[in-house]
Amino acid sequence: MILPFEIKATSGYARAATLITPHGPINTPAFVVVGTLASVKAMTPEHLRALGAQVIIANTYHLHLQPGEDVIAEAGGLHKFMAWGGPLMTDSGGFQVFSHGAGKEHGVGKIASIFPEETDRGRHLVKKPGKSLVKVNDDGVDFISYLDGSWHRFTPEEVIKIQVKLGADIILPLDECTSPLHDLDYTRSAMERTHRWALRAIEAFERLNSTGQSLFGIVQGGAYETLRQQSAHFISTLPFAGFAIGGSLGKSKQDMYNVLEWTIPNLPQDKPRHLLGIGEIEDIFEAVKRGVDTFDCVTPTRMARTGTLFSYGPPRHRLHILNSRFRNDYSPIDPNCDCYTCRKFSRAYLRHLFSAKEPTAIVLATIHNLSFMERLTAEIRRSITDCKFEELMQKWAFGSPPIGP
Ligand SMILES: [Zn+2]
Repeated sequence: MILPFEIKATSGYARAATLITPHGPINTPAFVVVGTLASVKAMTPEHLRALGAQVIIANTYHLHLQPGEDVIAEAGGLHKFMAWGGPLMTDSGGFQVFSHGAGKEHGVGKIASIFPEETDRGRHLVKKPGKSLVKVNDDGVDFISYLDGSWHRFTPEEVIKIQVKLGADIILPLDECTSPLHDLDYTRSAMERTHRWALRAIEAFERLNSTGQSLFGIVQGGAYETLRQQSAHFISTLPFAGFAIGGSLGKSKQDMYNVLEWTIPNLPQDKPRHLLGIGEIEDIFEAVKRGVDTFDCVTPTRMARTGTLFSYGPPRHRLHILNSRFRNDYSPIDPNCDCYTCRKFSRAYLRHLFSAKEPTAIVLATIHNLSFMERLTAEIRRSITDCKFEELMQKWAFGSPPIGP
């Protein structure tokens, strides 16, 4: 089904809109909370509702391996199984295939950190190269389960079938993600394969006649201008309800911004656009500025588990709570934050919990980081409506000259 998507205001390419799903509206730009295994780590649905989370993305690849889509279908679908009544998305598993395949061979993640001065994220994503655990051909992908070493096969049809059983509001077709280190030729053939798979996914989706679900298309093409344009054009001609920008976003943040600039102007104006796997504060502003409506990322929840907490201020709006300077700091993590954690607890207390390895530390830190993200995106939405997006971007110290019409 095509989801109603009402654009309320624009500022250059940035837009504030509402996407209406069968499980409620999503006000965009929106952060999509990652709940890979049908759970947002350390959070209950009650926590998530209280902090204003709008939508969760779970993962087809992981749920297929554990507990299996049939268990979830029998429970009444993903919403019921995880007790989340709000909007849900499922990612197709293409990125997981990538990270266990070419990503593993090349020892890289979404943005390759070839340059030593690149971001923390880049460094974290660089892994030791290993043997690829996937075999990709035109029919689909064979891969080894990371759980028990058994072989599995994903085809575009199978991935749709699994996601129909899971029952999320927004689902994605199988795609082949390339590594930033793949050359033009390989990236082109992977993109073309992704396009053929998109056609098969649509056919499978129509055949299964699933009501209440919407299929988004995925644009591929690595960090190559011609390929991104070509992919955006092709995917736009298909009857998708929205579009996700996937795959390798290049070797640097600038590459990623370029990818967005090559892709988004070639997508339909009246449909939502999702950026897969990006959610650092700086990236959010840059992506929204270029026309991204929703984005998902593990950063806020993953950072929370290691005691890295968002707090407005230089250099990067974050602090590491285990730092000894917080031992006697009785102020909240972020004085501007009105989340449960900041209203009730001090930096000194959080530091104590992390030092003592108390599980509550992770709960409180995750509540804060996700609340921070929700507040930030709400502020971004307001700024677009009030024609103050550029001003807000400057306030967060990531200002750059306006682009777009
Ligand atoms: Zn807080």
